[in-house]
Amino acid sequence: MSCSLVFTQFSSSSSVTVTVTVTVPPLMESSSFLFDRERHVRYLEMMYSYLPSDYEREDINRITLAYFAISGLHILDALDRVDKEQVANWVMSFQVHPKDTDDLENGEFYGFCGSRTAQIRDGTDLSRNGSHLANTYCALSILKIVGYNFSSVSSESILISMRKLQQPDGSYMPIHAGAEKDLRFVFCAAAICSMLDNWKGIDREKAKKYILSCQSYDGGFGLVPCSESHGSGNFLVPYQLNWLVDAYSWKIQRAEILTIHARLSGSGGATYCAVAALRLMGFIEENLMSRSTLSSIINVPLLLEWCLQRQAPDGGFQGRTNKISDTCYAFWVGGVLRMLGAQNFFNKGCLREFLFTCQSKYGGFGKFPENLPDLYHSYYGISAFSLLEEPGVKPLLIELGIVDIAAANR
Ligand SMILES: [Zn+2]
Repeated sequence: MSCSLVFTQFSSSSSVTVTVTVTVPPLMESSSFLFDRERHVRYLEMMYSYLPSDYEREDINRITLAYFAISGLHILDALDRVDKEQVANWVMSFQVHPKDTDDLENGEFYGFCGSRTAQIRDGTDLSRNGSHLANTYCALSILKIVGYNFSSVSSESILISMRKLQQPDGSYMPIHAGAEKDLRFVFCAAAICSMLDNWKGIDREKAKKYILSCQSYDGGFGLVPCSESHGSGNFLVPYQLNWLVDAYSWKIQRAEILTIHARLSGSGGATYCAVAALRLMGFIEENLMSRSTLSSIINVPLLLEWCLQRQAPDGGFQGRTNKISDTCYAFWVGGVLRMLGAQNFFNKGCLREFLFTCQSKYGGFGKFPENLPDLYHSYYGISAFSLLEEPGVKPLLIELGIVDIAAANR
């Protein structure tokens, strides 16, 4: 079987559209119940080389799309499919640098922006510095994955300017030009500090207080205090998850961002961000379930119950009460259970069966059963199989969302 697809070139600053004919080999008899690693590798490799034109509207998040493809290949032990030096040089080209040290006091954030488009500056317009916490998190994750020497990263600029994004209540806004402030960006800030191995970019006590104020009466966490508990977590992707970069104030981006954000209202989440950030900052220990939970700063029994209640009768995880199962929540909720040391408390066999219904015959995973694959759900579907300890799939450092070995590669 073969089909023709239109792609937009991925790694260049220009938009070159090409048509590619993809030949899909016939499925094996029982392949629907096998983790199809080879097809997933091919799918991610294709996404690394050429993105389908439907992703064009996500150009502003290109570095995050790259994170999904490259980190996914790493989880599948196929990092040899990428040119590590080329990737590192490409990522490093997105760091925004101050003109001098005085600039670090001007209120701008000097991190990484998400694409060439975001690098266009216009005179003194502050909003034109496109540095964003989510893209900075993705950039550093990719650099860690490819083994880049972090001594070449301007850590001081990132950390000093990032500290100014933290709000009096402990939350973070993702850009200096003003935006939503919530748990997603507290997680990003904690992950950035963790990867740079320097915590001057965050007031951890303030951040902790903010996170604790977001635990709801039912045990889960809302994005902001007194909001509904959410199961999911963090990135952005076509049609689905721009929620980490939904706050650029540029005129060009605003219309599209708001449209996407409207589609996302009611999704996304905070529980993973909350628990992962607390883990990264050292406020909760590994495998909490194996210790007395009475002294924990969060209500562990209630959180455990909330997470376990998210496994639906079809075996998958839902992100919120009364929502249908979705591939990505297998990681977001399953990841929280793993961080709590409660990975044996849910039905892994049923979760596997649900995930197989979302596995595409073209490689990758869709959001729901029988859906076509997208890069975001493919990444978190593969990450979920890592949680399930699928043979040939590398273990993750859950709280950072990358392969454990890469996290140790300082
Ligand atoms: Zn999803």
